[in-house]
Amino acid sequence: MDTRPRTASPRRGRPDLTANRLSLLVALALALVYNTRFWAEVIRLRAPLDAGDLLFLVSVFVILVAGLYLLLTLLAWPWLHKAAIALLLVVSAIVGHFTSAYGALIDSTMIQNTFETDAGEAGELIDGTLIARVLLLGVAPALLVLFVRVRRRPFLRELRTGLVGLVVGAVALLAPVGALYPEYASFFPSNHQLGHMVTPINVLAGTGQYIRHARSASDGPVKPLGLDARVVRPSGPGRRPRVLVVVVGETARASEFSLNGYERSTNPVLETLPVISFSDVSACGTSTAVSIPCMFSVLGHRDYDDGVARGQEGLLDVLRHAGLSVLWRENNTGCKGACDRVEVQGPDAFRDGRFCEGDDCFDEALLTGLDDFVAGLNRDAVIVLHQEGSHGPAYYLRYPESFRRFLPECRESSLLDCTREEVVNAYDNTILYTDWVLGRVIELLRRHEPDVDAAMLYVSDHGESLGGGNVYLHGLPYAIAPEEQRKVPMIFWSSPRFDKSARLDRACLAEQRDRPLSHDAMFHSVLGAMSVETSLYRPELDLFAPCRGGGSATAEPADRRL
Ligand SMILES: [Zn+2]
Repeated sequence: MDTRPRTASPRRGRPDLTANRLSLLVALALALVYNTRFWAEVIRLRAPLDAGDLLFLVSVFVILVAGLYLLLTLLAWPWLHKAAIALLLVVSAIVGHFTSAYGALIDSTMIQNTFETDAGEAGELIDGTLIARVLLLGVAPALLVLFVRVRRRPFLRELRTGLVGLVVGAVALLAPVGALYPEYASFFPSNHQLGHMVTPINVLAGTGQYIRHARSASDGPVKPLGLDARVVRPSGPGRRPRVLVVVVGETARASEFSLNGYERSTNPVLETLPVISFSDVSACGTSTAVSIPCMFSVLGHRDYDDGVARGQEGLLDVLRHAGLSVLWRENNTGCKGACDRVEVQGPDAFRDGRFCEGDDCFDEALLTGLDDFVAGLNRDAVIVLHQEGSHGPAYYLRYPESFRRFLPECRESSLLDCTREEVVNAYDNTILYTDWVLGRVIELLRRHEPDVDAAMLYVSDHGESLGGGNVYLHGLPYAIAPEEQRKVPMIFWSSPRFDKSARLDRACLAEQRDRPLSHDAMFHSVLGAMSVETSLYRPELDLFAPCRGGGSATAEPADRRL
């Protein structure tokens, strides 16, 4: 044990800086170190670089530093400055990981996804690279900033320095734009994605927008919709309940379905069944938080607004007003408002030791107990099954052992630790499993054919990027998202008696399979399939409408059993 008397080392003061200088240093660090994705993209877009491009890059750098410096100067209040900087550094380190590694872009939807995710989903995104990056670029510099002593001068002098800083920042921000105006006017408006890469301004702007929306959505009561809805079909002794099971998929992209021409056999079950796969369906959004409320709202892709959608009732309410029984079964992270006023069942209702570990269930669990529900129906019903589907990045956790068919598969939570082939293999296994689950849904409905007229409509919420162009996962702003994030599978199956009762000409419907469709069809097609009449209904958006014949039943399709 060291018994030497402890000698007081000459007292070294903590390093000190003026608030102004601290802002400038942090702005420089943020611009240089935390925005590598932004710089890589700007350079890629300008390449090959000539002298003019270099001048342009320098001017962008000046603007970026000036903008960040302005932001930090506005935050330079004695009780706020260091804490705000520390927080921004940690947030920027986290965001930098997702923009660099996965090609994510940060906007209000991405912020919404972050707020609305659950612990399990978020946990799958945490890997060694993220932890290292946050420690190195987040926690360490944040501690350093907290350690530094900020020299405060008399209030008026501090205020004057702050104001001078703001003016200098504003001039530095505007001067290059003025000097190179034509360059800026053509470059940035045609490359919207860049704005979502500037960290941490993207986070602040996205959060502000998200809060504004959330607040407007929570104002006032929910506006009723479709109170005039009613079921229009003959009643009488021969009338049996009509049941539509809507399976809402997760992260399944259209191109990975062999029903749509994918060279791998990812749909061995559905290929043996009389299903119609619509091959050209566009999602409403590129994330769950947009697509789910959108597809159940009357607004449609063009008019969709989160606040408006949450402020009024949706498809399931209209069905309820028409007197239908509506059930939502949830194996994902929630229905984002779409099921707020109908019966919802979570894993408590379908927890099944064969498919679940705690609340974590494979999608097949969604069918547990459903036989009894269908058997007990005495009126028309719409049942929504919200899958976990192909949610990444841990695709390998979405299917049981027996569906590990495409190998080798990525079994890392960080996709970057796997080859592209392994990522695609794991993803394709999730599609294979969804194929099986949909087959099981159809099998269940067939068991009840003597008692109900049944159909199934499967549609995914959005697609997925699997590393093409170094982009992974989903959630890019719609206008610039690649097709694989926007195109989703949509598959329909119906029993012959359903076709007869709904006057549906299947041969005609099969001819429509390549017709361009979108999530906008969902609202009106479900109303049409259930013979619900309301002033909201628009036949031009009902995918069944062109094939709804007169009174005659169509020929039964060649029916091969599962
Ligand atoms: Zn989703």
